Amino acid sequence: MKIPDKVNAYCRKCKTHRLMGVKQEKGGRRSGGLNWSHRRMKARRRGHGNLGRYSKKPVTQTKMASKSSKKIDLRLTCPECGKVAVANKPRAKRVEITRVL
Ligand SMILES: [Zn+2]
Repeated sequence: MKIPDKVNAYCRKCKTHRLMGVKQEKGGRRSGGLNWSHRRMKARRRGHGNLGRYSKKPVTQTKMASKSSKKIDLRLTCPECGKVAVANKPRAKRVEITRVL
């Protein structure tokens, strides 16, 4: 999939459309461990052993491998204020950021 390196997108901070630089974020690092829903599930499961309403089966490897493409993490950077926004994530096997004049 070819993606232009500059895209006219809306900046939430400037409240206008601007020509933003596109970058691909590599490595899926998590900001702070578990998110809110995970924390809630963990709290509900506490003290109930392995069974119960809120027990959840782990995602199997076959289920994970069934997808042949990955969602690509694109970030848009505003040239005026430097705010980085997360773009909507398309699915692609291969990503190529091409230069557009
Ligand atoms: Zn901005």
